[in-house]
Amino acid sequence: MQHAKPLPTYLVQRYQGWKATTYVENESWYRRLAESGQHPRAMVISCCDSRVHVTSIFGADQGEFFIHRNIANLVPPHKPDGLQHGTSAAVEYAVNALKVAHLIVLGHSNCGGVQGCLDMCSGHAPELEEKTSFVGRWMDILRPGYERVKDISDETDRRNALEKQAVLVSLENLMTFPFVAEAVTGGKLSLHGLWTDIGEGSLEYYSPDKAQFARV
Ligand SMILES: [Zn+2]
Repeated sequence: MQHAKPLPTYLVQRYQGWKATTYVENESWYRRLAESGQHPRAMVISCCDSRVHVTSIFGADQGEFFIHRNIANLVPPHKPDGLQHGTSAAVEYAVNALKVAHLIVLGHSNCGGVQGCLDMCSGHAPELEEKTSFVGRWMDILRPGYERVKDISDETDRRNALEKQAVLVSLENLMTFPFVAEAVTGGKLSLHGLWTDIGEGSLEYYSPDKAQFARV
């Protein structure tokens, strides 16, 4: 593989800083983590967006969250077709092997993936309709959510509503996985839907009783 380059200097310096301080100060804890394996209580599915920082907002350390990130924090429907499904593999491992107690889908404000879905579904992004667009085909997962919010007239409200639909559609799709449904109905796993406003630093959770999101 001739195309791999050494790490850029700024990252080398940051790594060396971490190794000399945080690591050295907590070395025995890191060694214990390595030896005892991982036992996270929760899996988090969040967006790739660099502004979404789930470990920061929950003050979580290494070993606490099993995290999977993809464009717009989406879970596709259960589809055992023998092809490669990264998100489904992560869910299967978390539920069946790690036996996490909580599965959290975290959406966020100003989501570029969700905006792309809005553009595509409203006919403003023909390039995303192409079969060759990985983003477009991935965002197809959210089309049922678009149908539920497309009549909201205010642009920001519509996007926020679709960001929350990305969470709800994912929770609905999670329940199409037989092992997820079994763990949920058996009381071993609870599903949670969250949405965070990046600018406000606020967090909302989906309340099934109210059928809407409410502030944490
Ligand atoms: Zn996003």
